[in-house]
Amino acid sequence: MEEHKDILTDTFGRKHTYLRISLTEQCNLRCTYCMPQEGLPQLPKSHLMQADEIFGISKIFVEEGVTRVRLTGGEPLVRKDFPQILEKLATLPVTLSITTNGIAIHRHFDLLKTHGVHTINLSLDTLDSDKFKKITFRNYFQEVYENIFRLLDDGFRVKINVVLMKGVNDNEIVPFIDLTRKYPLIVRFIEFMPFDGNRWNREKTVTYQEILSKVHEEFGTDKTVRLEDAPHDTTRNFKIDGYEGQFGIIGTVTNPFCDTCNRIRLTANGKLKNCLFSDGESDLLTLYRKGEDIRQLIKATITKKKAMRAGLSTPEQFNDPEMHVKNRSMIRIGG
Ligand code: SAM
Ligand code: SF4
Repeated sequence: MEEHKDILTDTFGRKHTYLRISLTEQCNLRCTYCMPQEGLPQLPKSHLMQADEIFGISKIFVEEGVTRVRLTGGEPLVRKDFPQILEKLATLPVTLSITTNGIAIHRHFDLLKTHGVHTINLSLDTLDSDKFKKITFRNYFQEVYENIFRLLDDGFRVKINVVLMKGVNDNEIVPFIDLTRKYPLIVRFIEFMPFDGNRWNREKTVTYQEILSKVHEEFGTDKTVRLEDAPHDTTRNFKIDGYEGQFGIIGTVTNPFCDTCNRIRLTANGKLKNCLFSDGESDLLTLYRKGEDIRQLIKATITKKKAMRAGLSTPEQFNDPEMHVKNRSMIRIGG
């Protein structure tokens, strides 16, 4: 086994202990920033990792040093075997978490608690039900909003992910922070990022600085408290003095955090991506199905990881939408 030693550490000394697994490319929403408007070709079911394959591949990562696994998608809860997948993964010595659009989360409270999932990352980009429909092309605002408070009542820690887009929901920074006055919620504003098919352009991104300026203007610099960030945290954390909850900003576009990155991603069809923005990926599933050892391929994929955003390190490169068309759309990566 010596040759595989430390297969999760890249050439910059970053150890990748956090695996994000996409369970599906399917979703019950059609968020404009995530799902290409023309839709997606349907993957035959046989191309998707099955529950036992997700477990088997994860087990190898855990043996090699992964300590955290996040289930995402697409919408992870549209997978009918979600309970079986979670149950099996919970037998591994890892911290499990989930990112969901929140529509169906109320059906799984007991299951999640039983298997040690106490923090839920839930995406909601607006507090206005008409706008919700414009962003997602579906009418589920009420269900999602109510589920946030059900989760809190049931003792879960809730992080709300808000992708801010100019002219769409950038006027909702203050209303979202207002929610943290009474409730112990963690609201995280995410800079809108470029992926294939999401019609991104730099002008639509509401930047870290713009978000913070708005907060300072509204609540005052002296009341805006900078909190300590956890190691490897992609969020810069704050709270308004005296409020129950807190908020944060994920500044991938203008304020990247690549130097402490510990994340790798497994797509629903079993491809390993060493960066959210990489256009290359390694087919672990095919090798695993042949009964071969996937460790060498994992090591090679991690070794190829670039210092910053898959090599798109200058703002000029990153801001060019053409540089992102060879990558997948976000719904096919797993955020
Ligand atoms: N369906 C689940 C959900 O919406 O939470 C999980 C999958 S979704 C792809 C994961 C996260 O990626 C969500 O918080 C979503 O808002 C975020 N996301 C998707 N597209 C994005 C983009 N273009 N820029 C920034 N964040 C994005
Ligand atoms: Fe679905 Fe989540 Fe993408 Fe929205 S962000 S389309 S909910 S996968």
